[in-house]
Amino acid sequence: MKELLIIGAGAAGLFAAKWLEGIDYALLEHNDKAGAKILISGGGRANVTNRAVNASHYQTNDSDFVTKVLRRFDNRALLAWLRRHGCEPMERKPSQLFCPHSAKELLALLQSSRVRYGIEVERLERKDGCFVVHTNRGALQARAVLVASGGLSYKKIGASPIGLQIAEAFGHTIASTAPALVGLTLQKEQAWMKELAGISVTAMVEVEHKNFDGNILFAHRGISGPAILNASLYWKKGHIKIAFLPNLPKLLPHKQLSTQLPLPKRFVRAFLSYIGVPDVQAKKLSPRHKKQLQLLCDYRFAPAGTFGYERAEVMRGGVMLGELDEGMQSRLQEGLFFAGEVCDATGELGGYNFQWAFSSAYAAAEGIRNYLKKH
Ligand SMILES: Cc1cc2nc3c(=O)[nH]c(=O)nc-3n(C[C@H](O)[C@H](O)[C@H](O)COP(=O)(O)OP(=O)(O)OC[C@H]3O[C@@H](n4cnc5c(N)ncnc54)[C@H](O)[C@@H]3O)c2cc1C
Repeated sequence: MKELLIIGAGAAGLFAAKWLEGIDYALLEHNDKAGAKILISGGGRANVTNRAVNASHYQTNDSDFVTKVLRRFDNRALLAWLRRHGCEPMERKPSQLFCPHSAKELLALLQSSRVRYGIEVERLERKDGCFVVHTNRGALQARAVLVASGGLSYKKIGASPIGLQIAEAFGHTIASTAPALVGLTLQKEQAWMKELAGISVTAMVEVEHKNFDGNILFAHRGISGPAILNASLYWKKGHIKIAFLPNLPKLLPHKQLSTQLPLPKRFVRAFLSYIGVPDVQAKKLSPRHKKQLQLLCDYRFAPAGTFGYERAEVMRGGVMLGELDEGMQSRLQEGLFFAGEVCDATGELGGYNFQWAFSSAYAAAEGIRNYLKKH
């Protein structure tokens, strides 16, 4: 029997393992390599953290819990750890810190010789005072278990519902899950946007009292780009607002709208045709047309859905944090721990999800040490 079994060799599982020296543990991973998501993250460069990390950048039902966990191992602690191991992250986008060359650098620091590959965890059971992990290769026993099996997005590289299933089996409440950091699909009325596939504009997107400035990319399936991906984290079936322009500029009377509005011409023409305003010299606009133009600064609509888990960077929702203690241990089952994306703390774009994976893994490692000492 092991002291500890860690389910999943991704960011959270591998990082927790770094703080568990001296403990007899193994990581169980169904892929044939560890950290598949790390390798494809941040466009291959892994956006490891952000200069400004706090709970306001997370969708969660328990911001106080998130704050506490982030404080125990914050962005400075993470950066210090990375530097100590020879990795000096670089600011590639404002405030966002990436591996200097490649996500492989991060994975190399996290690698562990204790990963058992090709082991698919199917079920967890508590029997005779210990945990029994049922896998495709038989049953394994442990005194404690850390569930670090991630969320539901990107099944093709290993995502599975096992973490949520285990949590439910032990009586945990799951905050409702959905694809997040993902493109949004459109209703029929927004068909005009589909005609713009390939174009991008800079805009401000507002959803559930959150604002995101950034690019919107028009695609055949719907809309995407950083501002939309961030908005998707907070979007729950209602309306979103897009300001394609912060204010309507003063229009020159003799110039045609599409040649003077500071947006791509193709976009302006499609938008004008959609709102029923002719692309004429500004002086020829009727008062009603002028009013319609205000829609460029306040365009509201209800997306149809999302591009789904196959394209979502993360899963929103997960194991309710209020049912865990400060060491990420289940309040319903002693010895059972959770860390990473399986928990109800989902970050915006910008390195927040790795920071959560690492902070929660650190907290879990401390919790596990304390638990094993006592039992
Ligand atoms: C395309 C993409 C880009 C991203 N870029 C960034 C970025 O730049 N910055 C950022 O902060 N976040 C980014 N993310 C999000 C980030 O990768 C995740 O939030 C983070 O990896 C979560 O860590 P985790 O350890 O909880 O889960 P994961 O990293 O998903 O690890 C879970 C592990 O468990 C294994 N597993 C699952 N089920 C089983 C089972 N039944 N049996 C055995 N093993 C199992 C999986 O194979 C996997 O190895 C990105 C995500 C994607 C998809």
